[in-house]
Amino acid sequence: MKLVFATHNQNKFAEVKKLIPTHIDLVSLTDIGCTEEIPETGKTLEENARIKADYITEKFGLSCFADDTGLLVDALNGAPGVYSARYAGEQKNAGDNIDKLLTALKDQSGRKARFTTIIALNLAKDRHIFEGSVEGEITKEKRGDGGFGYDPIFRPARYEKTFAELSTATKNQIGHRGKAIRQLLRFLENSISR
Ligand code: IMP
Repeated sequence: MKLVFATHNQNKFAEVKKLIPTHIDLVSLTDIGCTEEIPETGKTLEENARIKADYITEKFGLSCFADDTGLLVDALNGAPGVYSARYAGEQKNAGDNIDKLLTALKDQSGRKARFTTIIALNLAKDRHIFEGSVEGEITKEKRGDGGFGYDPIFRPARYEKTFAELSTATKNQIGHRGKAIRQLLRFLENSISR
């Protein structure tokens, strides 16, 4: 069967494609000729993931899944959350976002946070939601060169290093996106016939 992963991010697509069983023909937005930016107008991660998956299913009539991720900081009542990409503005700059977050937490003693990824899957008849989270803390300064986004200031619980200092393999194993993707894979393996 053909299944669309609704992302324009080629790195994310390549990473996930490697994990999907070969009897599923995973295709990207480019593969189906969808070049437009799908508007993310939802107020929650789940709404945004659903909006993206529904957009593709309605416009192209294809089975599809979409993901949405946010960093939720307890001391900021869950901000930046659904606005993580554009926390410091529409330029969606990771350095600016980090600076804004470190400033917002300057006088806070509690620095607990979590990354959450939601995946919305639309099959022919059914819709499903999968979720993966990782708990941790926001460090006081940036550490490490790996990863992307907020990785240099996120230290997962029970680790000394930030996501930007840990290997990709470790991040995938303990991280939000890896957990959500593995749930999706388990579901696909059990529910889609060869
Ligand atoms: P998206 O929904 O995957 O596009 O993620 C939204 C925003 O959350 C990104 O622009 C990043 O700022 C942040 N983000 C998502 N995943 C990660 C991650 O694994 N590490 C650090 N930041 C992330």
